[in-house]
Amino acid sequence: MHPNIRVLGKSLVANLLPTTLFEPTLELAEVKELFSTFVRVVEIENHSYCNRTCAFCPNAFIDRRSQNLIMEDALYERILDDLASIRYKQTLIWSRYHEPMAHVSIFERLGRARSRLPEAYLVLVSNGDYLNRETLRELECAGVNRLMLDLYLPEGRERVPAVIEDEKKKFSTRTGLELSPIGEFDYRCLGSSIQITMGIPCYTGEHVSTRGGLVDIASLHSYQRRAVCFNPLHSVVVDYNGKGMLCCQVRSDSAQQSSAVIGDLTQPGYTLFHFYRDLAPARAGLLAPGPKNGVCRTCKCLRRWPRQTGAAPCGGERNLSASRNAAAFPIGCSSHFPPPQVRVSVNL
Ligand code: SF4
Ligand code: SF4
Repeated sequence: MHPNIRVLGKSLVANLLPTTLFEPTLELAEVKELFSTFVRVVEIENHSYCNRTCAFCPNAFIDRRSQNLIMEDALYERILDDLASIRYKQTLIWSRYHEPMAHVSIFERLGRARSRLPEAYLVLVSNGDYLNRETLRELECAGVNRLMLDLYLPEGRERVPAVIEDEKKKFSTRTGLELSPIGEFDYRCLGSSIQITMGIPCYTGEHVSTRGGLVDIASLHSYQRRAVCFNPLHSVVVDYNGKGMLCCQVRSDSAQQSSAVIGDLTQPGYTLFHFYRDLAPARAGLLAPGPKNGVCRTCKCLRRWPRQTGAAPCGGERNLSASRNAAAFPIGCSSHFPPPQVRVSVNL
């Protein structure tokens, strides 16, 4: 699709949104309705730890390895309570900057999510390091719908055929899953009741997100985002520590991104709906035309929200190589098209 047509489409969609989405003092009953209508993905972390430090990820320089802080169980229960109160039917995804399978609590918590949210689509994004026949069985028993794996190969060797074959073989032996190609470097994993895909990423400068300005990408130093962003409309993101974040790109453990901490779910009486309401000013700014500043300035993230099976985890579209490589493409400037009703400028 031509970029201008896409921009026009986005402007039209933004114009059609109810103005209540941008009201910071809306009654919570109305916020709940908006949440039910517009939120497609709730993205959380079970704990803080990731076992890797991938070069393209802020975990390369923000410590997520020296300790593992688990989300308080009471907080997790409150998140489930809130979602159960609206019979949440959309995606609940464990992704962000932790490796969800790195702590055993995930299995019991997934099972709890399944029983409290029978219609929700439960998704894990994982590097697959902890996946074996036993943990796969635990995920199946917990009622997980979808597992999105990344097979990270040694840097610079991601496209060496012998390395790929060797690692694929090890993966299949360890998990019992058979790999069926669905793209040049993407596979469907057969042999489980869970829908599982695995990609072999090869992130180079042009494909990497700046993660809200944290990752230095020379070609984006002077980039200025002008495109609208639907993230704070369609997604709700909560870190392991209960901080409600602007979007999946940013993180509460970065001092540089403190302005992107929008809510705190650990505060007594503060629910997901209070947080969604508190996103109203950011939503307004990001759906208005014009430059996007602060953590959004260098962000080229373009997230699509199609069907549950296409749920995109943090980092953009990660289902197939083609879309993986398109995760960072610019969507242009909207200044030639009618502005949405909201004109608040975002400066997070
Ligand atoms: S990209 Fe994923 S596996 Fe790699 S360090 Fe970041 S969170 Fe961990
Ligand atoms: S523009 Fe990027 S950083 Fe800003 S809210 Fe959207 S996805 Fe997040």
